[in-house]
Amino acid sequence: MSQGKLIVISGPAGTGKGTVVAALRERKEYALSISATTRAPRGTEADGVNYFFKTTEEFEKMIENKEFLEYANFVGNYYGTPKQYVLDRLAEGKNVILEIEVQGALQVKENYPEALLIFLLPPSKEELENRLRGRATDSEETIIKRLARADEELALQDKYDYKVVNDTVERAVEEIEGIIEKA
Ligand code: 5GP
Repeated sequence: MSQGKLIVISGPAGTGKGTVVAALRERKEYALSISATTRAPRGTEADGVNYFFKTTEEFEKMIENKEFLEYANFVGNYYGTPKQYVLDRLAEGKNVILEIEVQGALQVKENYPEALLIFLLPPSKEELENRLRGRATDSEETIIKRLARADEELALQDKYDYKVVNDTVERAVEEIEGIIEKA
């Protein structure tokens, strides 16, 4: 059986990665890796569904045990991709999607050069800010930190294999499907 493809989708928080990934998964089968994080659950998020929620101590133990494919610190919290799940699905020939931030994505590329790195861009800076502010669950302080981080992330977009503008979800999804099929 041939190996599945490892697809990394990044882009500043608020770009609509989650919506685009959900739309991709409605149309075709992809394994979605569930990340571990030390940030607190937001709204209706549940452990093992949106994330595996960990204490800093637990997360650091996982780092020590080399359980991560990649991990990064994002606005004061750890986020990481558990390695075994991803390697198992790829070995089964399944395509796997990672929805992760930029530092982690670049680590994946280093370790798995065949990974497809897709940077999802917001249609505009204003739209990004509107979307981040629309998340009533985040404090003003968090929003400001995330906006600053968005600029840092946008500066790294040229390191990606592909850039896709999330102007409409339908169009972005079709473009991404085209990229995955050709790869
Ligand atoms: P949020 O707190 O909004 O759920 O996620 C913050 C950022 O962390 C987003 O850009 C999200 O894509 C990224 N992220 C989620 N899981 C992982 C992961 O496992 N590794 C890395 N490097 N980033 C992640």
